[in-house]
Parts: sequence; structure tokens; C-alpha cells
Amino acid sequence: MAAANAAYYASRDPLGAAGDFITAPEISQMFGELIGLWIADLALRADAPDFAYVELGPGRGTLAADALRAMAQARIAPPIHFVETSPVLREKQREAVPQAHWHDTIDNLPDDRPLIIVANEFFDALPIRQYERTGRGWRERMVGRACFALGDAECANEIPAQLADAPFGSIVERCPVGDAIMAELAERLARQGGAFLVVDYGYEGPATGDTLQAMTAHGYADPLQAPGTRDLTAHVDFAMLAATGRARGLRPSPCVTQGAFLTALGIDARVASLARSNPARMEDLRTDRDRLVMPEQMGRLFKVLALRHAVWPEPAGFA
Ligand code: SAH
Repeated sequence: MAAANAAYYASRDPLGAAGDFITAPEISQMFGELIGLWIADLALRADAPDFAYVELGPGRGTLAADALRAMAQARIAPPIHFVETSPVLREKQREAVPQAHWHDTIDNLPDDRPLIIVANEFFDALPIRQYERTGRGWRERMVGRACFALGDAECANEIPAQLADAPFGSIVERCPVGDAIMAELAERLARQGGAFLVVDYGYEGPATGDTLQAMTAHGYADPLQAPGTRDLTAHVDFAMLAATGRARGLRPSPCVTQGAFLTALGIDARVASLARSNPARMEDLRTDRDRLVMPEQMGRLFKVLALRHAVWPEPAGFA
């Protein structure tokens, strides 16, 4: 999954109508603007105007560009650090945010200031492991020649205690790469100050279920066919990310739906304000708002979690 996604992202810009999928910042400028205001509000209340903005997997740089414009309204213009492996997407990001600094990994982010880190649809692209409960015990589900096959080793110690006795055939997923990224960034935030905003599709585990999926041309596809040409994702376990951050001294927010978060941040007021300056756009603005917020669209499946340094104030949007 790691190799297939690395090849996939390195060779194309998958976003938008002509690509394979679309994301919240590409649907509407309001998404990035509200996140920019969320950041500005948090940094001002934390009295940390010298923070750096960090984004993991920034895509086309749209979220960052919209967030920066909104932050500028509050006279905040942080240095920008992007963690991005795809050369194709780096080029797009350079057009959107020319002043950014780029990193291949999280290892060389600034270590002398608070960080406010944003990750939208990043963790779902990281490789997962799947385990299946069989009559002989828990086994890892591995990729054979275009099929799944179970390994021989007992994997019970990878399984959360609550799921140990799940029915035979149950699948449990873990994302060790995502947990490691969260652990390392949480240690940094505990040392340097700051906060981490994670938005993605997912659930609050522990839970069973096979969520591995492939997307091509805005439709579902077989994840084992044509590796490197389809977007492979898995749902993100937000309870796991919160626990990993908490164990390193951060305070996790409740995990809320994207619909609740954007509504609490004032997306309806933003629709009204944009419509006032351009009444002809009213219908489009409402359609975009509904895509982001309505439960049957992105509003419920997508979740939002914020983790903050223990002495930082509570971020907006989770009450
Ligand atoms: N956040 C953007 C793009 C989401 S797609 C948006 O919401 O529109 C996933 C992004 O993560 C892409 O930019 C992809 O190149 C990047 N990415 C995927 N795996 C990565 C990895 N292991 N390290 C760094 N970036 C990665």
C-alpha cells in the first residue's frame, strides 16, 4: 500500500473533476478560510504569534492558501512548512504558496517555535495492516498474487483487548505509520507548544471492519488491480490518534463530525457574507456548504480532532 500510493501520488495530481477524487478544500474556499480563522483565534488566545504553520500532504496547496488569506485578516502571517513527497503536487503547491518550505518527512520541521499542524485527508493515505480472526487465532491478511492470503504467524498481540474475541472472520485494521507520525509530532508539540488539527474520514475505535478502498475516476475500484494507478485509502481510527497524543502529554478534543465543526465555526455566516458581495453565487455557495456539512454528504463520515499542548487554550469548534 505504501509503495502503490507513493507511485500513485508521484505520477499525477489526482484531485479535481478530471482526476480520481475531490477533497473539502477543493470544493470550497470556505473550508480553508474557516481553518485559517480557527488557527488565528487559537494562536492569539495562546499568545503564540511566532508559531509556524505545518501541513501534512497539502495536495494542491488550496487549503493553505485559503487559510493564509484568512489569517492575514488577523494580521497573522506564519512561516509555512509543507510535508509532501509528490514532486507533481509540490509544483502545484509552489504555485499556490510560493513562500512555503518543503520537507520529505516530519523529521526536519522547525524545532524552535510552536507548531500548528493541519492534516486533511492525509492519514487515510498511509499504509495499514489488516488482521483476521480465524479458528487458529489472529492472522495478518497479506497480499498474494492479486488476492489476499493470511500469514502463518499468530498476531493476537496486535489486537485491542476489546476485540480479542470478535467473531471468526472479523477484520481489525491498524495503521502503525500513522500512529508513529502522531507519536513523533505529539512529542514535538509537548516540547514546543502548539496544536494538531486532523480532518479525515474515519471512526472512533476500537472497531472491526475492512475499510481498505481504491478510488479511480470518482468511483470505487478493486484495490489489488493496477497498483500505483489508484488511490488506496483506509478509514482513520480517531480514538487511536487521540490516545497516542494523550500518552505524550497532549490534550485531545472530543472527536466531532466535520458538519458540527464547520457549523460551530460559522460556515453559515461565511456563506451569507460571500453571497452579499456576489449575490449571483448564492446557489453555488449553498450547494458547496451542503456538500461539506450535510450528514449524507461529507458532514458525518468526516471527523475532526484537535490535540493541543497542555497549557494551550481550548480550540474553537468542539463545544
Ligand atoms: N490535503 C489535500 C490532499 C489530500 S491527498 C486535500 O485535502 O486536498 C493526500 C496528500 O498526502 C497528497 O498531497 C499526497 O501527495 C500526500 N501524501 C501521501 N502519502 C504521503 C507520505 N507518506 N508523506 C507525505 N505526503 C504524503
